[in-house]
Amino acid sequence: VKTIGVLTSGGDAPGMNAAIRAVVRTAIHKGLKVKGIMRGYAGLLQEEIVDMDSTSVSDIIHRGGTILYTARCQEFITAEGQKKGAEICRKHNIDGIVVIGGDGSFRGAGKLSALGINTIGLPGTIDLDIACTDYTIGFDTAVNTAMEAIDKVRDTSTSHERCSIIEVMGRNAGYIALWCGFANGAEDILLPERYDGDEQSLINRIIDNRKRGKKHHIIINAEGIGHSASMARRIEAATGIETRATILGHMQRGGAPTCKDRVYASIMGARAVELLCEGKSNRVVGYKHGEYVDIDIQEALAMTKDIPEDQYQISKMLVR
Ligand code: ATP
Repeated sequence: VKTIGVLTSGGDAPGMNAAIRAVVRTAIHKGLKVKGIMRGYAGLLQEEIVDMDSTSVSDIIHRGGTILYTARCQEFITAEGQKKGAEICRKHNIDGIVVIGGDGSFRGAGKLSALGINTIGLPGTIDLDIACTDYTIGFDTAVNTAMEAIDKVRDTSTSHERCSIIEVMGRNAGYIALWCGFANGAEDILLPERYDGDEQSLINRIIDNRKRGKKHHIIINAEGIGHSASMARRIEAATGIETRATILGHMQRGGAPTCKDRVYASIMGARAVELLCEGKSNRVVGYKHGEYVDIDIQEALAMTKDIPEDQYQISKMLVR
């Protein structure tokens, strides 16, 4: 490879900038040219491509978001869109691409690989919902942001002896909810993977806990279950305990990345460029059992993962 491109795609995540910086600086160190592709695959198809040098990534390691912007792109899901993308890469002499994003972005990366553009994926999502890796760029920052916010809600919830439902991000995956549930000592954790909709049991636990003298009842609800406001109204009506819903929302996507996200994203970014230099393509960099690994994209996409049941049981046991 002589010239590599880098893009961020799908939802943004804190630490993506650290990954971009590592990709750019590793490539320059190896004597390669680097091009930044703006707005994911949408920017590729619009030829929003800029030359990058070492200073293009100055002063970004500590910043949330992505300096390359991110987007979703319907056109790239089509075979014509992918062919056009590969042609644009060739036109700009881009012979390797690092794609930072989630599973959808990796599907696109796999298509580019098949069209002869060497492509490496980096797992960038706050949701931790990429099966081939135990770590995703942004999760650590997002759970820490959510945890700190929930601590604040807890203070006021205790003072007013309220029940609080706090909704955290995670449409299909409950990892943020589970981790906050642990870290904030929540009385209940509602995970998309586990919640059976049994609100009466929830109400009974709230009443029991109040009888046992608990001053608050924190429920962490995942976005995928949602309906926090109406749930709060029903709980208040059934228990007589003042119940409020707080939806943390997009604040969880932003903010300065934690040390862990900066370090892991940097190492993964460097690893992606090394793989391209070794002539590898169609692979995702992951972190599994304490080691950085790389996995074939199709194999990675075929993997599934679930909330560890033992951890879920421990989280419930610790608040009883
Ligand atoms: P997140 O998990 O944060 O939402 P993601 O990468 O999974 O990230 P998606 O919206 O699923 O987010 O995918 C991002 C982009 O990747 C899509 O908008 C599209 O351009 C491209 N993409 C998704 N699926 C495919 C596919 N099957 N083939 C080609 N490109 C795809």
